[in-house]
Amino acid sequence: TVRTRFAPSPTGLLHIGNARAALFNFLYARHHGGQFLLRIEDTDRERSTQKAVDVLFDGLAWMGIEADEKPVFQSTRQARHTEVAHALLERGLAYRCYCTAEELKEMRETAMAEGRPPRYNGMWRDRDPSEAPANTPYTIRIKAPREGETVIHDLVQGDVRVANAELDDMIILRADGTPVYQLAVVVDDHDMDITHVIRGDDHLTNTFRQAMIYRAMGWDLPHFAHLPLIHGPDGAKLSKRHGAQSVVEFREMGYLPEALNNYLLRLGWGHGDAEILSREEQIRLFDLDGVGRSPSRMDYAKLLHINGVWMRQADDTRLTNDVMERLGKMEGVDTSDATRARVLDLMPGLKERAKTLVELADNAAFLGRSVPLTFDPKAEKQLTPENRVMLGKLAEALKATEPFGKEAIDATLRQFAETHEMKLGKVAQPLRAAVTGSTMSPGIDDTLAALGRDEVIARINAVTA
Ligand code: GLU
Repeated sequence: TVRTRFAPSPTGLLHIGNARAALFNFLYARHHGGQFLLRIEDTDRERSTQKAVDVLFDGLAWMGIEADEKPVFQSTRQARHTEVAHALLERGLAYRCYCTAEELKEMRETAMAEGRPPRYNGMWRDRDPSEAPANTPYTIRIKAPREGETVIHDLVQGDVRVANAELDDMIILRADGTPVYQLAVVVDDHDMDITHVIRGDDHLTNTFRQAMIYRAMGWDLPHFAHLPLIHGPDGAKLSKRHGAQSVVEFREMGYLPEALNNYLLRLGWGHGDAEILSREEQIRLFDLDGVGRSPSRMDYAKLLHINGVWMRQADDTRLTNDVMERLGKMEGVDTSDATRARVLDLMPGLKERAKTLVELADNAAFLGRSVPLTFDPKAEKQLTPENRVMLGKLAEALKATEPFGKEAIDATLRQFAETHEMKLGKVAQPLRAAVTGSTMSPGIDDTLAALGRDEVIARINAVTA
């Protein structure tokens, strides 16, 4: 069965490139009826604070990407990594290297002078261990193959090859006895029975080194799929100057997890024209053949559009819960059950008009404010002395509107416009300004109904008095 994993290092943020790798691993496992695992690569003890780990857990939970087994913490597996290094040593597939810092420096300098990449020259590879200097720290190096080539059959990149002469005898255990990253990844992926390693193509060159360890241990290599990275709109590597790039940022900007998931999936993976895909459809359709080979460009406008689509489809109660939370952080906005009821009532209209949750909350805030409202400049312009007089009369008509619901309100407004020989808009806009403080809101009839008669009258009175 298929077993995939997401193996982030706790850096303090969940980058969308990593989130996409997590999503692909998750969908691939689900599509094939397999398991998706999580491994926290926390060997850098200084960076791997609880807070940094929580950022990963929170981000994944928010994205709805759930692991099928308990997360594995790489730092707890050091003894096992070391054990494998020693197993290679015992089998003569690795050796102790007593090379000094000066010797390494010399190798680097010679390489640079000759214009080739620095490589360890293998000076301890075939030396008799009895020549080892006493009381000298040593590293353990793996014996790299010297002839032939290493080929990786990558499921996205195709066959990728390197001449083995290019690979040097990599350190697998440092002088202080700690295992290197490449060793830890291989041992963990092996022990976790990972069948497919799907990750960013910045790890492609690591794969050749990792393959050495698999082969030396006589372990089967997993399948590899290296995903092209996400670039900015200008084609350069995605960075801060392009805009948001971590999951938390998008969350705070008011994106729905479904929308971010949907967008990240479509970024670099395609299935015909399908644009908006539910989780079920994603699982059904996802496979690695649909993953492109070239870097994808982040399109923030497209993401915003997709978010708008998901907002319109989202459940009213859920959106209301989110809005209430955001209103709680605003000044002068009541968040009692009464406001909540208004927000829920008006949600069908509100969600049509907002592309993010932030915008949605901003647009809903008027429902929880109390008189006197503050008016934005366009609304202020609607509140001319004449219009205020008109609103005073309109208030009388609204007091008699029964029941105070969408239809009766609509009828009252039409009747009023007709009687006063006004266009409906000339009645509705000042009214909207008076009760919402702005010139944009869902339909005026829905808006008034959500506020309720008493509040509507109070708000009109506040501008006519
Ligand atoms: N820990 C690595 C990273 O965060 C991922 C390693 C892997 O997927 O093999 O980039």
